[in-house]
Amino acid sequence: MVFALDFANKCVVVTGGNRGIGYAFSRALAQAGASVAIIYRSSKDADDVAAKLGKEFGVQTKAYKCDVADADLVVSTLEKINNELGPITGVIANAGVSVVKPALELTSEDFSKVFNVNVLGVFNTARAAAKLWTNRKYEGGSIVITASMSSQIINQTAPNQALTQVFYNSSKAAVSNLTKGLAAEWASHKIRVNALSPGYVNTAQTSVMAKNIRDHQAKNLPLGRFAEPHEMSGQALLLLSDHASYMTGGEYFVDGGQLIW
Ligand code: NDP
Repeated sequence: MVFALDFANKCVVVTGGNRGIGYAFSRALAQAGASVAIIYRSSKDADDVAAKLGKEFGVQTKAYKCDVADADLVVSTLEKINNELGPITGVIANAGVSVVKPALELTSEDFSKVFNVNVLGVFNTARAAAKLWTNRKYEGGSIVITASMSSQIINQTAPNQALTQVFYNSSKAAVSNLTKGLAAEWASHKIRVNALSPGYVNTAQTSVMAKNIRDHQAKNLPLGRFAEPHEMSGQALLLLSDHASYMTGGEYFVDGGQLIW
């Protein structure tokens, strides 16, 4: 077997695929020859982003507006994608949000905002794909869930001072475990489920951090800097590919060595 990440004749759905880390996934997949379905929530330029990628790499790309927290909408959107670009062979459940606030000030609405996207949205996306795959004759598919290194640790803004995002961190711990449960349940259907856990990545999500906090965090990383979104793509494409045929239920950290200490 030639070792290449070739996605010709593959169709991959990327939630939150129009910007940030998700866009890097969409771009790498298009470059590798996949048809790419980009799911977004409200960005105005998602259609243009998808069209531009398709033109650049000569593949089919299309943006689909869909709130991943809406289970029925996710099912109908994946069915539509399957008919228009499919058959779908892989999914990256990547859409995520954060609320950064001291725990004493967090509200039930904040909880719903974070968990409805980061946990329920991931579950809705993974299950909609699994339903499609188990309903057709050919079984199998690969699901990659974007978790975070904060599934394991609490980020610091200064020594002994936590970055205040306990709902976000606990939502990522939840999807880390969700990954294992889904992998165990769906292994018999030849559906693999893995989590990719980024460290700090330069996107809109991290751009809101104060400069002194960013500098402190970057300085404490073994690689001494935040990642660029494209540095997440290699691991995602590997997990989606047949080269990862014996990998399921794992959580893979792409974190500049942050978890070393
Ligand atoms: P961004 O904030 O840059 O982008 C978020 C993406 O998610 C957007 O495409 C947005 O769509 C989409 N989205 C948000 N809510 C919904 C929803 N309800 N339905 C559909 N799509 C939605 O995020 P990042 O690229 O920084 O993060 C991507 C993933 O990586 C997230 O899960 C995040 O938690 C995780 N992560 C990020 C890290 C970082 O340092 N940046 C570190 C570790 C993990 P729209 O544009 O329409 O709003």
